[in-house]
Amino acid sequence: IIRIENLEKSFDQLRVLKNINLNVKKGEVVCIIGASGSGKSTLLRCINLLEEPDAGHIYFKDQDLTDLSTDINVLRENIGMVFQGFNLFNNKNVLDNCTLAMTAVKKMKQAEAEAIAIRHLTAVGLKEFIYADSRTLSGGQKQRVAIARALCMNPEIMLFDEPTSALDPEIVKEVLDVMQRLANEGMTMVVVTHEMQFAREVSDRVVFMDQGVILEEASPEQIFTQPQMPRTREFLSRYL
Ligand code: ATP
Ligand code: MG
Repeated sequence: IIRIENLEKSFDQLRVLKNINLNVKKGEVVCIIGASGSGKSTLLRCINLLEEPDAGHIYFKDQDLTDLSTDINVLRENIGMVFQGFNLFNNKNVLDNCTLAMTAVKKMKQAEAEAIAIRHLTAVGLKEFIYADSRTLSGGQKQRVAIARALCMNPEIMLFDEPTSALDPEIVKEVLDVMQRLANEGMTMVVVTHEMQFAREVSDRVVFMDQGVILEEASPEQIFTQPQMPRTREFLSRYL
C-alpha cells in the first residue's frame, strides 16, 4: 500500500535519510525503532509530505505522492497521522476537533461528521468527553482524541510518531491498548516507537534505523532474539 524508493532527505549539509527503501503491505503493522536523531520522524513526515523529500519516490497504491500533480487530498484522506505532542486544536472541544477535517476536507455535513466522530470517540473510551474542552484532558485522553480524529477520515493507513513518549508511564497502556485493537482490526500501521514490548507483540515487521539508513528489517522475533547487525544488538541491549 506504501512503497518508498530511494528516498533522500537533507537539512542543509546534514543527510538525514539516505537511500531509504521500504514497503508496507495492506494490513501490516511496521514498527520503526532506532536511536534519537536516526531519522525516524523525518521518514514518517516524508510519507505524508510534512517534509518534502529531496529525491526518491513514495507511492501510495501506485500513486506517486512526490509527483506534484498528485492531488494532496489523496494523502489527507487516506493517511492518518498521530504525533507525540497530540496537536489538538486547543480552542475547540473534543467533538469539533474530530469533525473539522471531515467537514473541511471531505465536505461532509456537520451531523454526519458528528455521528462518525462519536462512533470513534466511543471506541477509544471517550464518549463522556465529547463536549469537553480539549485543554482539560489528560495526556492519554488527548492522545486518544488524536487517534479518533485521525480515524474519522477513514484512512487506509495510520502513521504514529512516538504516540506514547510524552505520557506518564501509567497512562501509556491506555493508548497502546487502543493501538493494539486497531492493529487487530486490520489497520495498516507504521509506528515509530520506543515501546519495545509493543513492537515485539504487535508488529509484523520491525525496521531498525541508524544514522539515516535502514540498517536492518526483519520479523520482531528475528530482531529481538537474533539481530544481525552489531548496532541493532547494541541499541536493543539498552532496553533489556
Ligand atoms: P527522535 O528519536 O529523537 O525523535 P528521530 O529518529 O525521529 O529522533 P529525526 O527527528 O528524524 O530523528 O531527526 C533526524 C536528524 O535531522 C536530527 O539530526 C535532527 O536534528 C535533524 N532534523 C530534523 N528535522 C529538522 C529540521 N526541520 N531542520 C533541521 N534539522 C532537522
Ligand atoms: Mg522523532
